[in-house]
Formats: sequence, C-alpha cells, structure tokens
Amino acid sequence: MSISHLLLSASQIPHPFLVTADFLKNQNLKKHVSKCMDIMVQASLQQVAEHMFLIPGGNNGRFPFSHSILVVDEETVLIDTGCGIETLQQIKREYDIDYVINSHTHIDHIAGNWVFKDKPLIVPEEGFASRGSLVKLSQRFVNEELAPLWRKFAREVLQVRDCEPSDSYNAQRTFSFGEVSLKPIYTPGHTIDHYCFLEENERILFSFDYDLTSFPWYGHRESNLPDFRSSVERLKTLSPKIVVSSHKGIITEDIGARFDAFYNKLDERNERILTLLGGGKTIEQLVDLAPIYGKFPYVESLLRYWEASMISKHLKELEKNGRVQRSGERYVQI
Ligand SMILES: [Zn+2]
Repeated sequence: MSISHLLLSASQIPHPFLVTADFLKNQNLKKHVSKCMDIMVQASLQQVAEHMFLIPGGNNGRFPFSHSILVVDEETVLIDTGCGIETLQQIKREYDIDYVINSHTHIDHIAGNWVFKDKPLIVPEEGFASRGSLVKLSQRFVNEELAPLWRKFAREVLQVRDCEPSDSYNAQRTFSFGEVSLKPIYTPGHTIDHYCFLEENERILFSFDYDLTSFPWYGHRESNLPDFRSSVERLKTLSPKIVVSSHKGIITEDIGARFDAFYNKLDERNERILTLLGGGKTIEQLVDLAPIYGKFPYVESLLRYWEASMISKHLKELEKNGRVQRSGERYVQI
C-alpha cells in the first residue's frame, strides 16, 4: 500500500486506526498516521538470543508504536504491547501467551494490553495505582484542561482501552521463564514506574525507553531529570553486550558510546536553552522556540505542554548549577 494511496484514503482510515477524520484534521495527525499505516506491521520476529525475540513495532518502532518482546521458553511471555493491534492479534493466534508484562505505563507500551485481557497482566508497582484506566492515566500525565484531548488521542490513535492489571512487580522480583530469567532494574526519570530488564548470563539489557535515540524524554510532572541522568549512568555501568531498545531495536555495537551520546543530549539541551535565554525569557517564550521538540507536528497543545515541562526541568537544573537566575517569570543567564 503506497503512501499516496493512504493519503487519499486517510478520511476513511481502516482498522487499526479507528480515527475520526475531524480529529485528524484538527490535530494535524492525518499525515503522521498515514505514514504509520504505510509501514503496516508484519509479525516477523527478530531473534535477540535463544528464547527471546523482538516483535517489530509499526512505524519502525517510532511513536506512536514501540517494539515488543516475546519470550518463548517453558512459559511464553509478552513484554509490552505497543507494536500494533493487528500484530498482537497475529501473535495471539500463533502463540499461547501465558502472561503479559509492561515495562512502564506509557500508552505506546501498553496500548494492546486489552488484546490479552484474558491473561494475567503484570505491571510496575509504581504504576499499579493508575490501574489500566485512561481517566487515571490522563490525570497522571497531563493537566485537567488537556486530559480529555489526551484520552481522545490515546483511544483514537493508539487504540488504548482500559485493561486492569492483575499483579505488580518491583526490583526484588526476578522473572524466570524457564531457561531465561530477567531481572527488573528500577530506572525512574522517564516515568516514575520505568523498569529495564537484564538477562545476566549473556548481558542483554532490555532498555525500553532509555532507548538510545536522539530524543531522551522526561516530560511529565513525575519525570525527573536528575533521576533520568542517574538511570542512564547506571545502565551504562551494567556493560551490556546487547541492548534492546523499544524505539531503536537490537543494538550490538558501540554501546558505551551510544549511552554517552544519549546522556550528552541532556547537556546539549541545557546549552541550547542557555543560548536562547538572551536577555531573559519566560518558559512560554522558550516553548515558542521549541528547543527540545524542534516543532510540534501533531496534537500541538500536548506537545507544547511537555516541551514546557522539560524546559522547566532544565531551568531548575541550570538554576541549581548557578548558571541561570530567575527574575519573576523570566529566566536570565548568569
Ligand atoms: Zn515511555
């Protein structure tokens, strides 16, 4: 199916994108979703190691999708459900999934939990309070004004549906599937409930959204820049031989350097914000310059909200380091 065909037919976007044309038009999502549709997912698994496979996500694993993980051992387990609803339905037909685990509670990782609603769902203990409810998640991730739009985006673009978890885990629990065991590593910063998983024998790190892309993300109230830095440093010191990233796939080369580059993005953002401050700017003025997102191609109000949140975390850090001073609503470089 070609992109041009999809653009022509975008007002009648078929399953799995049950998106209303008006919503897409209003939110400038038509083009974005059409691109995703063009890369319809084929459930061709990529082997990570014995018993462990990556299920490629739609749009090459980029948002609004992510790659999922399938463990086929004495138990058959799915980790994260953001690879695409049709792919998950195919997985469900081909594998007898015993249970589902979520790495954290972002919608591009939990969208398809409902496909396996007859199976146990195990989520991080820090995310258990939001209990698979879109209303609770919207209260957690955006302000009251944006919550209805966020829920609409989650429902209509990512096809998220409420799905109650049945159990939770923390760093004390080790998942043993048979020959393969995965140890959860608590890595807050991105969200308060983010875990990575380490396979210790072969030193395979499932890093999820410490994803080694050029876009580290920490835009929620609960996100924390110092914790994000600590989590990246901790993951690097594990010296993994293979990293499996939710948005970059299987990485086997230059892993230490790639962790450094990911970490350095945070410092680059500090410097960019400092440069933009000039004679002093408010957070709102900085958001207009989009030093982190660069542009707001879809659902602008949500992206601006998260841009402001990330900028404020950088300003807090710069203030603490004595490089920025606050004067009323304005921030000035010292
Ligand atoms: Zn995430």
